[in-house]
Amino acid sequence: MTPTPFEALPLAAPILRVLRELNYDTPSPVQAQAIPLLLAGRDLLGCAQTGTGKTASFALPILHAIHERPKQIKPRGCRTLVLTPTRELAGQVGKSFSTYGAHIRFKQTLIYGGVGQNPQVSAMRGGVDVLVATPGRLLDLIDQRAVDLSGVEFFVLDEVDRMLDMGFARDVKRIVSLLPATRQSLFFSATLAPSIVELAQTILKNPARVTIDPGTTTAERIEHQVCFLDRENKRHLLEQLLRGQAAATSGKLTIVFSRTKHGANKLAKSLCEAGFPAEAIHGNKSQAQREKALEKFKKGLTPVLVATDVAARGVDVKDVGLVVNFDLPNEPEAYVHRIGRTGRAGAEGRAVSFCAEDEREFLREIEKVIKMPVPRWDDHAWHDEGLADRHLRLRSGGGMIQGGGNRGGRQGGGSRQGGGSRQGGGGNRGGGERDYSNASGRNNRRGPASR
Ligand code: AMP
Repeated sequence: MTPTPFEALPLAAPILRVLRELNYDTPSPVQAQAIPLLLAGRDLLGCAQTGTGKTASFALPILHAIHERPKQIKPRGCRTLVLTPTRELAGQVGKSFSTYGAHIRFKQTLIYGGVGQNPQVSAMRGGVDVLVATPGRLLDLIDQRAVDLSGVEFFVLDEVDRMLDMGFARDVKRIVSLLPATRQSLFFSATLAPSIVELAQTILKNPARVTIDPGTTTAERIEHQVCFLDRENKRHLLEQLLRGQAAATSGKLTIVFSRTKHGANKLAKSLCEAGFPAEAIHGNKSQAQREKALEKFKKGLTPVLVATDVAARGVDVKDVGLVVNFDLPNEPEAYVHRIGRTGRAGAEGRAVSFCAEDEREFLREIEKVIKMPVPRWDDHAWHDEGLADRHLRLRSGGGMIQGGGNRGGRQGGGSRQGGGSRQGGGGNRGGGERDYSNASGRNNRRGPASR
C-alpha cells in the first residue's frame, strides 16, 4: 500500500505549503495515524519516541486549528500549552512550531528555567497562541499570576516518561488541575508503563491510542552494537571510532554519552587533548553555554558532543552519524532515547555502547526493554571475551533471549548455552552523580531533580 501524501490530508493551505518547502511529502507513521484523529478533535495517547516525527504530528493539527479559527486571547493566557521535561526540548518544540507555522499568523513563547523570568512575563502579557513550557518555571509564573491557563484549548504533554523520571508528577498534576475541563489533550511517551497509563487516564477523555513501537523503530533504523571491554580501554576504543568518523563523508557528528557531569567534562577535555575537538553539555552549564555548544556542534566546528542524558534531551541534529554510550545508562529507557539521537528523519545511523564489568546489569535491563540482545561488536583490539561471556550467562540466567546477534563481529567463543548462574552481576546501580540537574531550571526542587 502506498502511503498517503500530506497533500491528501485536510490541512490548511499555508501548512501544506510549508511542508512542500521542507520537502516533507509523506507523513511518518505517527503522523499518518495521529493527524486525522487530532483534526477530528480526539484526545490522543501516543506511544512514540523522539525521532519519529511526533512533534509535527501534534504541531500541524494545532497550527491548522489556530489558522482556521483565529481567536482573541486573554491577557496572560494561551490557547495551546505544550509541557516538556527539559528546556532543550522546549526550545526544539518551539522551533518546530515556528518552522511549521512559517506562513501562519500566530504568537508563541517559551517558558523555562535557568534564565531570567522578566522577558517571559512580558511575552505572556498580551497572551499567546502557543506556550511551550517546562513544569517548574511555569508553576512559578502561574503563582505570580503572570500566566493564566483558564483559556487552554489544546494541551500537549510531551515525553511524559521523562517527566515522571525527573520527579515532575506532582507539578504536572497541579498544572492539569488549572486547565479548563473542555479541551483537547494529547499525551506522548516513549514507553507506556502502568504508572504512565494511570496518569494518562486522569488527563485524557476517551483517547485514541497510537503506538509506534520504540523497540522496532530503533532496531530497524539504527545499527546498534555493544563492545565488552575494560573501563580503562574505553577511551582508546572511542578514539578509534572517532578517527573513523573523521574520515566519513557524511554523518560526521558524534554524540558521546556520559552518565555524570564530571565524567562528561573530563572526557571532553581528554578528547580535545587527543586532537578531537569536543565540548561537554550537561545540567551545570548555563543555557547560553549549552546553546553555544550546540551551535558549534551543528556547524561541525566541534564535531564531538559529550552529553549527559538530561542535556541531550531535545537535541535534534540531523547529521549525527554516531552515538557512543561511553557509559551505559542505568535507566534502560534512556538507551532508546540515546540511540535515537542518530538516524534522525530516516537517516542512517550507528550506535556503539561500551560495557565494562560493572555495567552488565544495565545492559541486561536494556535488553529486556528492547526485547532483543544488543548485537556484539568484538572486532577491536580491546575486546574482553571473558566479560562478554559473563554477560551472556547473566542474560540467560535471567531467562533472556539466547544468542548474541554478533553483527559485524566474529562469533564470540566460550559457552553460549544458558548457564543459569547469575554470578557477578552486581551492577553498581546509579553510581556517580547522575545529571538530573534542573530540567526546568527551578531551584530547590524536591525529588530526583534536586538530588
Ligand atoms: P521529531 O520526532 O518530531 O523530533 O522529528 C524528527 C525529525 O524528523 C525532525 O528533524 C523533523 O524535522 C523530521 N521530520 C518530521 N516529519 C517528517 C516527515 N514527514 N518527512 C521528513 N522529515 C520529517
